[in-house]
Amino acid sequence: MAPIRGTRSTRNQVTWTCKAGHINDPQEHLLFDMPCFECRCGCGEKFDNDFEFFMGDVKVNNHDVIGEPMHQEGATCVAFAYAKIMESTKRMKAIIEKKDPDLVPVMSAEDLVHKYEKLIGNDTSTGIKKVVHMAQILKDQGIRSEDKKTLYKVSDISTIRRDDCESIASALGKGFPLHAGLRVGKNLQKLKFCQIYKPPHGSQFIAQRIPVKGHAVVLIGAGRKKGRWYYFFLNSWRRFCVRKDSRGKLLRYGVGFSAI
Ligand SMILES: [Zn+2]
Repeated sequence: MAPIRGTRSTRNQVTWTCKAGHINDPQEHLLFDMPCFECRCGCGEKFDNDFEFFMGDVKVNNHDVIGEPMHQEGATCVAFAYAKIMESTKRMKAIIEKKDPDLVPVMSAEDLVHKYEKLIGNDTSTGIKKVVHMAQILKDQGIRSEDKKTLYKVSDISTIRRDDCESIASALGKGFPLHAGLRVGKNLQKLKFCQIYKPPHGSQFIAQRIPVKGHAVVLIGAGRKKGRWYYFFLNSWRRFCVRKDSRGKLLRYGVGFSAI
């Protein structure tokens, strides 16, 4: 049974016609239909319109998919991003099964940190090692909910190259939030709602002779404007990218945009 997708962005011009007149209908996915990125007639023409989608905008069967942003303690972003992915994936499943997603418990990032430390020992590793081992732990041991009543395991893990924007967008359109690393520059901390974060290039760290500093987030949307890709990401920093209405009422926080 297909979910009712609710309001969606009207900017999505996902059907397009190539110069030879072939009409390319979008590829249907669970949450968002993706444009066909290369013409199906074989002419080689590429889709070049703007498009955008964001899980936070979507109500599936009248429920919010993502739930509340998390708040990490210390340098535990990798575990918090995984905890959020597990929660939102289960929320999505509950919605499709016509259950209340708010009954899905919040997952314990601390549980994942604890299991990782038990497995690896005293941790002096780089982020990527943590990313890989924690994914393996989610498969082998699972993660507990904060109330300790639920244990979730993942059935499969896979990796998408960071420059494969079309595959990343397709996975998000299918309803899979993705674990991702951002390079941390001085503007990330003070990013404002509606600003696009531009991560520093890896060479800037080399030039300054400092180690690359990364931060784990959850990708929950993607878009392209004038041929340039960007992502919506969910951060686990308290009061990140706060958005208020004209009366000062808090509308949303935790979601940023990033160029790639
Ligand atoms: Zn064509």
